[in-house]
Amino acid sequence: MRKLTLSDRLGHTDGRREAGRQSAQMRLPLEQPKSFPKRRYPPNQKVSLLLSTSQVSYSKDMSDAINEIKRRLSIVDVVQEYIPLKKAGSNWRARCPFHNEKSPSFMVSEDKQIWHCFGCSEGGDVFGFVKKIEGLEFPETLRMLAAKAHVTLDSYRPENSNKKTEALDTIQQAAGFYHDRLLRDADAQVARDYAKKRGLTLETVEDFEVGYAPETWDAVRTHLDEKGFSDQQMLDAGLIIKSERSRGYYDRFRDRLMFPIHDVQGSVIAFGGRMLKDGEGAKYLNSPETTMYHKSQVLFNIHRARQAIRTADAAIVMEGYMDVITAYQAGIHNVVASSGTALTLEQVKLLRRYTKNILFAFDMDEAGQEAARRGAIVAWQLDVNVRVVVSPSAKDPDEGIRKSKEAFVRAIKQAPLFMDYFIDTLAAKVKLGNVEGKKKFTQEVLPLLAALQDVVERSHYVQRLASLVQVESSVIEQALSRVVQITAQRRGSGGDVATSQVPAKPAAATNSQQNVFIRRILALIIQYPEQLAFIIQKLDPENIEDPYFSDLYRNMIIYYTKRNAFDWKGFIQTFPQAVNDDHRVTALLLDENEVISQDINAQTVQLELQTLLNRLERSSILQYIFTLEQQIKIAEDQGNQNQLDQLGREFQHYMGRLNTLS
Ligand SMILES: [Zn+2]
Repeated sequence: MRKLTLSDRLGHTDGRREAGRQSAQMRLPLEQPKSFPKRRYPPNQKVSLLLSTSQVSYSKDMSDAINEIKRRLSIVDVVQEYIPLKKAGSNWRARCPFHNEKSPSFMVSEDKQIWHCFGCSEGGDVFGFVKKIEGLEFPETLRMLAAKAHVTLDSYRPENSNKKTEALDTIQQAAGFYHDRLLRDADAQVARDYAKKRGLTLETVEDFEVGYAPETWDAVRTHLDEKGFSDQQMLDAGLIIKSERSRGYYDRFRDRLMFPIHDVQGSVIAFGGRMLKDGEGAKYLNSPETTMYHKSQVLFNIHRARQAIRTADAAIVMEGYMDVITAYQAGIHNVVASSGTALTLEQVKLLRRYTKNILFAFDMDEAGQEAARRGAIVAWQLDVNVRVVVSPSAKDPDEGIRKSKEAFVRAIKQAPLFMDYFIDTLAAKVKLGNVEGKKKFTQEVLPLLAALQDVVERSHYVQRLASLVQVESSVIEQALSRVVQITAQRRGSGGDVATSQVPAKPAAATNSQQNVFIRRILALIIQYPEQLAFIIQKLDPENIEDPYFSDLYRNMIIYYTKRNAFDWKGFIQTFPQAVNDDHRVTALLLDENEVISQDINAQTVQLELQTLLNRLERSSILQYIFTLEQQIKIAEDQGNQNQLDQLGREFQHYMGRLNTLS
């Protein structure tokens, strides 16, 4: 028997399908690249090249494989998958994806098959580009581009492999196994019946490599064992589970319809398994988190959909695998699924590589609507437009499309902006004629308004809301600024969009500007002691960097908590004279004088307090971002990718927070 190639494992052996894809992807031989770092790809590697419809295997250097990949792929096509290029003379031009710039200085040369940015001096060949933009290691980049170019890597040296590629091989092998079972096993009849009942064609089952996990406890393990994979590799791939009672292992997925989940490069990284019989257990079982699978960063079908998303300049996000598969089968290709969770920041970032327009096609039940609401808030963080596909006659897109594809396509075309949809649906439910209704309505809409990033958009909806509940728009604006503040605080304490480990308190450096804000806050409390309760909810003594004011404020809280009331004169008498004479208290009292001279009402005081809190937090964050930037520089110098990722996430998080405070 012929030796199993990596391509076999990757499932690229279907000659008929390959031939079709290849003709579209094959390019005329390009100028042979003049140099590539041979050092990194040692010679004497065996490669076999999949040519035309027949597979030809022969030994060559790894460098030949790399050359072959470069010959077959056009760098312009590859780069275009990530950023739009414009023709400029004999070159192509774009705004650089690796640094922020207004005018394009990122150039791609089709002749030379290289790219270069005159802004940040980055540059290289197609490998360098993909490695950088996808954030991959070399072995993964090689794999990805080999698959794209239909070049089969027959074997590769361990230094080109790593734990992740091992896990990818293992899980890909499992995908092939499950798929075979579905097509061939007598026991899989129930699964085939189910797929048929859901309207899946054989072609779709093959395209999506839908599979069946047999009901036994050791089917996939036995198969992988025969193929030479170790238990550890199977564990790393999330395919088996260590038994608690015995020393043995058992298959994670049993008697389930299996949907392979791919990363953006098209490698299988996980499975979603649907239960086939009614009984105990979750309807859907997903792979656990592994080195390759991070649920919050993955979108089902993204690797197939991304080109269509770019072309349509819109991504349709659905809830379930079946929704996506049905849509895809019906010819709606720009579809992905969030796999049952509300959309995360990472998922939106992934989509934003291809478009700034997201359409939610979620289930019409309460859970689906809530997922859409939460998803919209996350998407707005990244300034992505959100619309809703409303298919009122069906419970989910799967049913909707099967009932009438035309109606569903119409719903896509007519999809309202999420904010309009939300307001309209709510207005239909709530009685806006009475005060209670108006209050409820406003309370529901304001948190959404607070999440909108665009000032014009926000102000448009402030006016709309004001006219719906028949109040002055300034009233809505005031209420909104209060909500913005609360939202920012919640985010800090791990709400919806907090995606990274947030330190309990950003290291706010002592600076005179912060002290000005704190003095003013305390001065307002001296004058309006009833506002202390409001401030206590929002400001922790730990977040005040100046130890004097931090202590003073902490004591104010203790004083207040004991008496359930606060008055400055009584409070200050509990301190020794030296404290009372401190110049900082004097400054405070001077501030208070200033406040007293202005005659303001309680509402305005609270508004002023909110503004001060915002500014305080803003200046803390700016300070912290400054130290983050320095840490990022250090991590870059040291080439510490993990640290960079972590710091990058933190940076993003605080930048997002900063936006809500401006
Ligand atoms: Zn650049």
